[in-house]
Amino acid sequence: MTSQKKAQKSLKKRVSFLNDIQSQRLAFFVKALVEWFVQNGRDLPWRRTRDPYKILVSEIMLQQTNVEIVVPIYNKFLQQFPTIQRLAHSPLKEIKEITDQLGYKRRGEYLHEIAKQITFERNGQFPSNLDDLLSLKGIGRYTAGAILSFAFEKEDRTAAIVDVNVERVLGRIFGLWKWEKNVIFEKEIWKLSETIISKGNVWFINQGILDLGAIVCTAQKPKCPLCPMTEICMYYETEVPKIAPLDLFFPLENQ
Ligand code: SF4
Repeated sequence: MTSQKKAQKSLKKRVSFLNDIQSQRLAFFVKALVEWFVQNGRDLPWRRTRDPYKILVSEIMLQQTNVEIVVPIYNKFLQQFPTIQRLAHSPLKEIKEITDQLGYKRRGEYLHEIAKQITFERNGQFPSNLDDLLSLKGIGRYTAGAILSFAFEKEDRTAAIVDVNVERVLGRIFGLWKWEKNVIFEKEIWKLSETIISKGNVWFINQGILDLGAIVCTAQKPKCPLCPMTEICMYYETEVPKIAPLDLFFPLENQ
């Protein structure tokens, strides 16, 4: 065998070894995440429904806003506008009286516009595929994926979600946290998110990543001792030894 052939063979072996490691990590991640979420996930009103209208309302309200602030306003909104048809026929002023309490004042317009699109242009039929969802006013790739995974539980790649929390959690676990936040990074994170949900359990996986990012793998001082991912997390392996021990042993008090 020539030295070139030998080098190719060794490279192939190395690539296949790395692929095996990555699929083992992915399998561990999915299992540990779902088990953790079942025990520790937050009980939120929009998690008790699969109604796409209610999921839509929650997702628009949650944009750049804390869960605690959203819950009472979400409940009040649905009491006043219990169906998408009711919302479509209501004056924008009444809608904004509630949604403007959350700041970022375009939310009311978006919700009203979407309600009218679905009620009058789509005969009340809520879209259940990525392209149709993206054609709605103010709906981007994240919100479309959230609606697909939380309302329709689609077990395909279009139900992937990526926001800053997902970027942080996946980036730390799978070793991308030092990458520059550019197009290549975005592409890799979306690919990772799509791979993770491609085998099913999408509702639990997407909700689980969001909660892991909100409760444990926080931006400042991640609470690694409480995390189910320490066995596979690359950030934990390389960065945590540099963190002061007290921050690790008393993470909750330091947040
Ligand atoms: S081990 Fe630490 S850094 Fe890694 S995912 Fe868990 S909380 Fe985040």
